[in-house]
Amino acid sequence: MTEVNLGKWPRIVVTGNSVTPEQADEIIVRTTALFPLFSNDKAWLRQVRAMFGIDPGNEYESGRAAARRLRTINLHYLDNHQIMSTWWGGPYGWIDWDGTVGCATWNVGKWPSADELTEDWAAIAAAFPYLDMEAWAFDPEPEHAEPLSCHWRIRAGTATELPPVFPPVDTGEAAENARFEQTLAAAPRCGACGRCNHDSPCERGVAVDRLQAAINRIMW
Ligand SMILES: [Zn+2]
Repeated sequence: MTEVNLGKWPRIVVTGNSVTPEQADEIIVRTTALFPLFSNDKAWLRQVRAMFGIDPGNEYESGRAAARRLRTINLHYLDNHQIMSTWWGGPYGWIDWDGTVGCATWNVGKWPSADELTEDWAAIAAAFPYLDMEAWAFDPEPEHAEPLSCHWRIRAGTATELPPVFPPVDTGEAAENARFEQTLAAAPRCGACGRCNHDSPCERGVAVDRLQAAINRIMW
């Protein structure tokens, strides 16, 4: 298969059929990296750790125990960050709590290889066989001459790597800026954490009751 140069900070674009909010609960909780959790909102960090049974004094061991009980999926890059996030655009991922599948402004992390992303999509597809989605990864940096994108189909429990294609979004600067503006405007402001405001989104991605109900349903 043609090698696609993904660069240092590739963009992931995802489109797909929506799932139910209950399915979104399961997907988000089981694709969240539990240890360590990060937030500048220390009250939220404390609260979420307590909900998962994570002891900050023994984060690794207690985090592993929580991950086992929740059957979290080990992923290289494609974790969702919908419970908390320090990203400037607020909580993010390839699926939302309302069940919407998709993202367009997500840089997944430094230097992923196509194979690592394929492994991640395969693990995700196997864990959630009801997902029906397409994903692309490409280098959004304009100085790179080769605008090809890796391309996957995730469906019926399997992730299939398709031949490289051109990116599915306009990567021009104006379109990029518009997408980032939209992301920032749509990011949550809870009005209760004492940290979020017009300019910076909330680091909390979900209400306590919703997260607790999700954990109760998933954790054994
Ligand atoms: Zn807030």
